[in-house]
Amino acid sequence: MDKIETIAFDADDTLWINENYFQEAEKQFCELLDTYLPAYQVSALLLKTEIKNLPLYGYGVKGFVLCMIETSHAITGPYTDKNIVSRIIEIGHSLLQQPVVLLDGVLETLKALQGRYNLIVATKGDLLDQQRKLRNSSLEEYFSHVEIMSDKTTNDYRKLLTQQKCLPQHFLMLGNSLKSDVLPVLELGGFAAHIPYEITWAHEEHTEINNKHNFLKINKIENILNHLL
Ligand SMILES: [Mg+2]
Repeated sequence: MDKIETIAFDADDTLWINENYFQEAEKQFCELLDTYLPAYQVSALLLKTEIKNLPLYGYGVKGFVLCMIETSHAITGPYTDKNIVSRIIEIGHSLLQQPVVLLDGVLETLKALQGRYNLIVATKGDLLDQQRKLRNSSLEEYFSHVEIMSDKTTNDYRKLLTQQKCLPQHFLMLGNSLKSDVLPVLELGGFAAHIPYEITWAHEEHTEINNKHNFLKINKIENILNHLL
């Protein structure tokens, strides 16, 4: 870790709260359809629709809204109640206006690392929504670059590193998703630190990894400082 030059931070559920808002939105969606199907079945159908549409819509609120509309249509048949669609649109608008709540330790960690490392953000999600969250987070000044990615595959990270003129062995990624923030970076030969969040979207779930020399698991974001400074 003594060769790290660039540190990339995932944003959602790493810098600020996100998944809680999506789970609340999903709960409201399930309530909307509770006369048709029990909540767990609505949730399962929604997840299936989301995974099917990821290659078309990518990640973020807009795709989520379209998936809720598609799922409601599949559940209620061809004559979906107009009120259901209006409510889904409201749920989506509300998601796009949620406050940005920083996670504990984020500000202190960025302050400690600023000036010593090249700090960047590497996040998935809707372009405008992620830009809004970053602006409202008051964290922009800490980052030299913000990459809003359509996906986080090994190839996506390879392009990011080329653009940053950074070799994998000088790169550290921090994030809450093993699947998106850790595994592809390890595969490239970079360093990755996993900071689990209290809840994980079902599609991002992944079994634990052990015994990799370039992998760290930390409970709190500020613990990364023990390994760097
Ligand atoms: Mg995340």
